[in-house]
Amino acid sequence: MNKKLGFVWLLWAIGLISFAQTPVKKAIYIIMDGIPTDIIHKASTPNLDRIVKEGVFLNSHVGGIRGDYRETPTISANGYAILVTGTWANKNNVWDNSLKAPNYNYPTLFKLYKDAYPDGKIGIFSTWLDNRTKLLGEDLPETGGIKFNYHFDGLEIDTQNYPHDNKSLYIKRIDAEVAMAAAKSVYKDGPNLSWVYLQYTDDVGHHYGDSPELYNSITFQDALVGLIYDSVKQREEELGEEWLFVVVTDHGRTPVTARHHGGQSDNERNTWMVMNKKDINQYALNYRTAGVDLLPTICGFLGVEIPADTQYELDGVSVLKEVDAFDLKASLNGNKSLEMNWNAINKEKDVQAEVLVSFTNNIKEGGKDTFQKIADVNVKEGKASIPVKLPKNSEFLKVVLKTPNNTLNYWVQK
Ligand SMILES: [Zn+2]
Repeated sequence: MNKKLGFVWLLWAIGLISFAQTPVKKAIYIIMDGIPTDIIHKASTPNLDRIVKEGVFLNSHVGGIRGDYRETPTISANGYAILVTGTWANKNNVWDNSLKAPNYNYPTLFKLYKDAYPDGKIGIFSTWLDNRTKLLGEDLPETGGIKFNYHFDGLEIDTQNYPHDNKSLYIKRIDAEVAMAAAKSVYKDGPNLSWVYLQYTDDVGHHYGDSPELYNSITFQDALVGLIYDSVKQREEELGEEWLFVVVTDHGRTPVTARHHGGQSDNERNTWMVMNKKDINQYALNYRTAGVDLLPTICGFLGVEIPADTQYELDGVSVLKEVDAFDLKASLNGNKSLEMNWNAINKEKDVQAEVLVSFTNNIKEGGKDTFQKIADVNVKEGKASIPVKLPKNSEFLKVVLKTPNNTLNYWVQK
């Protein structure tokens, strides 16, 4: 064997060995718009059912934390922003569907992915063009000019070929085309990370409320989800890849009629997440998850290293990887002490964590915050009282609880 050929053989063998050891991991999530938790259980959804059989159905929520600075309207674009930034509206700055000024200083899942893996491929297949151009900020300097390798969207602005009708049948058609394009691209191109957005169910909810029409629209969309899932399964079987497949909704709907959304009722806030993985963590097993958990979950699965600055701002935690605590709250007792409490996942085991504080919130404007450690705490205690002195004229304190497996944060206003 000549030397050159031997080298090629060696590369091939190494490739084969590493391929056998670690399957390539890829992730895709699908938003089915505006389907309340009670209604998803009433509709016929054979495809979601088969995914749940292989994985889980998780109860989740959007709407931020009711009554505090993180409260977030249960509106569609807010729902997408929560999922894709892992933050509530006080950070991502999406307050309605107009997407006037998303705060790109809180990077999206796609930006984090591309920063970590510049050669990785990302895709978006969407019944709403603004998701790519505004929410994810393709080509904008603020997002570093992020570019999608694969996209299929914008049909809703082509009124010639998709004339708008008052029952949103054009949206139904577009959803079908979007899902078929996604299924095809997933099979053919296999993007490392992609998002599919389907809208029809929300339109039907607005037109008819809780009704057979709404259930039928869910079943229709469920079939579209099935097409995409089939592509994923086929790639897994043929190429040995491992996919995280997530289906979520962006908000619930008003009680009784289910015609509207935007408010803070349980019916509007409560959502759900279907995932093709069974090995969820103790947090997801025992508590209601949140829309903001999607980003850390997918990043964890894909091995995306999240820079500390961003990690300290995340409002969600992974539902797959081990986490130590969630739901941090803090307040100042005069200028004397910082009172903190959180929910510890393991209330028996000693786990040391650090409390960090910053007296600025520069990251919001694209700057940097300097954190200083003020205490070590035992996570299982679930609370701490720490002496703290605010600098003169300072009205603000950002608190981070840094445990071995995750971080939590809270903004304290004097
Ligand atoms: Zn919606």
